Amino acid sequence: MRTDKRQRVVIAGGGTAGWMTAAAIGRTLKNVADVTLIESEEIGTVGVGEATIPTLLTYNRLLGIDEASFMREVGGTFKLGIAFENWRTPDHRYIHSFGITGKDHWTAGFQHFWRRGEALGMAEEFGDYCLELIAAEEGRFAHLPKLGLNYAFHIDSSAFARFLRRMAEGDGVTRKEGRIGTVDLGDDGDIASITMQDGTVIEGDLFIDCTGFRALLMEGALGVGYDDWTHLLPCDRAIAVQTKSVRDPVPYTRAVAHEAGWRWQIPLQHRTGNGIVFSSRFMSEDEGQAKLLSLLDEEGLTERMTELRVIRFRTGTRRSHWHRNCVAIGLSSGFIEPLESTSIHLIQRSIHRLLQMFPHDGVSRADVDEFNEQTFYELEHIRDFIVLHYVLTEREDTPFWRHMRRLELPKTLQHRLDLFRETGRVFRANDQLFAENSWTQVMLGQGLTPETYHPIADAMPEEELRGFLRHIRDNVTKTVAQLPTHQDYLQRYCPQA
Ligand code: FAD
Repeated sequence: MRTDKRQRVVIAGGGTAGWMTAAAIGRTLKNVADVTLIESEEIGTVGVGEATIPTLLTYNRLLGIDEASFMREVGGTFKLGIAFENWRTPDHRYIHSFGITGKDHWTAGFQHFWRRGEALGMAEEFGDYCLELIAAEEGRFAHLPKLGLNYAFHIDSSAFARFLRRMAEGDGVTRKEGRIGTVDLGDDGDIASITMQDGTVIEGDLFIDCTGFRALLMEGALGVGYDDWTHLLPCDRAIAVQTKSVRDPVPYTRAVAHEAGWRWQIPLQHRTGNGIVFSSRFMSEDEGQAKLLSLLDEEGLTERMTELRVIRFRTGTRRSHWHRNCVAIGLSSGFIEPLESTSIHLIQRSIHRLLQMFPHDGVSRADVDEFNEQTFYELEHIRDFIVLHYVLTEREDTPFWRHMRRLELPKTLQHRLDLFRETGRVFRANDQLFAENSWTQVMLGQGLTPETYHPIADAMPEEELRGFLRHIRDNVTKTVAQLPTHQDYLQRYCPQA
């Protein structure tokens, strides 16, 4: 049975999560939903979140966003992967790219053929067989016809929120400025309304908590609880600062490990986003700040465009992501450190799920269970992938790294590591975000070499294997040589005003 009652959707919070949600519902479900978004300029947003992954292209397409206009508005650059520096040892570097490495056979991934080629002394580095990785290394980019590069963006997240706000308001979303006073529950325990500090009461049928780490609805009003994952990911502090760029932007994010965590460097067209992530058990905030500033000095990134901003967080997840008539999206739903730039992706996945299970006629218990199950599954998979970068380190130089090497791993991750070590195999199940090639790149990058390879690789005569590897490598080299530099391409494609 359907009712024709329109649903009053109230989104609390107007950061990246709030405006991405508002724009998506406003554009796709305006026939059934009236959306109001509450935000407070005085409180502001977390103000970070600049590196994305290729799935953002899907969100942009869903909303019909023109890519070049989007890139201009957000001062965007292209991203082909992440360079991990000093993770395995203090002088080691590898790239986790968004591309496919080599060519798989249906029985076995490319790594099996590459391993045999290596044993025979005829293979180059694993990454040399990946187009995106070599394009990233050489600072080149273009949209290629047919089999294009797989890419994402670096963006100014505040500009992205403003861009989405214009779009959402154009689609009829109402914005309410001001501070939330109370979140009011009805007799049935659902959220009935939000009362603003100025006394305005905003009633709704569905409430979306996008209030960031505060989680005013999901935790403050509904108290769903939080599962703490700091035993696996002990980093709990970040210090962020924007600096003026001093060189052309590279088409990848840098994630550089230091003695008690890591730091990021995200190149936009007009500025560089920098930040340090660390565990307060192993480094104080003063030490973190001094470390960040000295590293920026070393790289000539001395002209600051913002104040240093300390962000405290606790890695983990809300125990429910949809509870009663409230859905948590964004930082209110939990947080995994931004090592693989997965937060905006998770926002987008929650929005996608909510659109699929939109409660147009009241909340269904089965939808709620399904939503939560899918979200947990996805989060645990991402958490395992992030932990992977730490536990495979060979670093013993500081208490932090010695601690990380000895973590007791979740069974899911331990199994993946054992499987790869013993057989070279990786499997992707149930639509998981990180596909086989991502796991392979990071496991090899971190120094985990399989003990054996699939016998199908031995079925290929030696000369054929040599030709197979050479052909892939030559194609990569030839294609990259034809690409313009990333900077030239940006200037043509989306020049800043
Ligand atoms: P916020 O930006 O905090 O927004 C909260 C909103 O709620 C604001 O509008 C605020 O005004 C409003 N609000 C709060 N309280 C009230 C109140 N009482 N009354 C009215 N309004 C209120 N993600 C990536 O994908 N890539 C990255 O590279 C990345 N880097 C990150 C680095 C760090 C250090 C951190 C902490 C996060 C990073 N993230 C990254 C995550 C990303 O920043 C967030 O997922 C994203 O910004 C969404 O935040 P949000 O909208 O949930 O919260």
